[in-house]
Amino acid sequence: HYQYDELNIIARTTTDMSKSVQDYIRKLEKEKTIRQEFFSNASHELKTPLTAIRGYAELLQSGMASDTQMQKEFLGRIHSEVEEMTSLINDILMISRLETKELMPTKEMLCVKSVAEEVKKTLKPLADENNVSLEIHCCDEFVYMDRSHLQGILSNLMGNAVKYNRPGGFVQTDITMDSTSLSIRVEDSGIGIAKEDQKRIFERFYRVDKGRSKRVAGTGLGLSIVKHVTEFYGGCVSVESQSGVGSTFLVQLPAASLVQK
Ligand code: ADP
Repeated sequence: HYQYDELNIIARTTTDMSKSVQDYIRKLEKEKTIRQEFFSNASHELKTPLTAIRGYAELLQSGMASDTQMQKEFLGRIHSEVEEMTSLINDILMISRLETKELMPTKEMLCVKSVAEEVKKTLKPLADENNVSLEIHCCDEFVYMDRSHLQGILSNLMGNAVKYNRPGGFVQTDITMDSTSLSIRVEDSGIGIAKEDQKRIFERFYRVDKGRSKRVAGTGLGLSIVKHVTEFYGGCVSVESQSGVGSTFLVQLPAASLVQK
């Protein structure tokens, strides 16, 4: 009887172990696919502006762009392609630093309100161009964070809210802090996100390829940065949205992760 119990325990343990090994293999395979997809997407996204730059450079070299107006136009296009590549590379670097955790963040005491106002200032020209109003209600709290992390969350959420909006629309940002967390809520009256896309928008390079979002500049890395930064501080990000009505993103960072230890 004793032997029978022992055998049962061994059998159960072996089954549990083989299940964990299988789970681990599945996890590794998933990571491998994500990595492969990442490299293929990143190379593709970098190749597109490079091809354009080469094209304009060749046109300039060939002497076909004879008048200065045309030359200026081509140089301007090269410049904007370079800007696009730079922002893509910066986004990739930010994600890779957060993932590898190799580079320790440079944390400092930050006034949330002044960082939010700075972000608003950089987004103002785009908001004016799209005729979208930008409003911020922010607490007067200080947090111990890496500046690029707080900027990354705010500029990506508020930037998207402006980009995927409609003329005459609004973006309302509410930032509050209580004893448990810092909450950043960004609401817009934009094009909204369909249910099936809401699950995928935080994936690297995922863009909703319908209607207007296709024509809006972007890398598809913004929300992935928001998610990475949020999780780096032990927080969470969620979205509520309705197609054609608008979206609300909510980031919550635990207050305990925002104090100097
Ligand atoms: P990007 O804006 O560079 O494409 P993001 O990772 O920031 O990349 O967003 C992924 C996709 O999610 C966007 O391409 C867009 O389709 C959708 N999206 C993000 N924010 C909003 C928003 N506020 N309203 C509507 N769609 C959005």
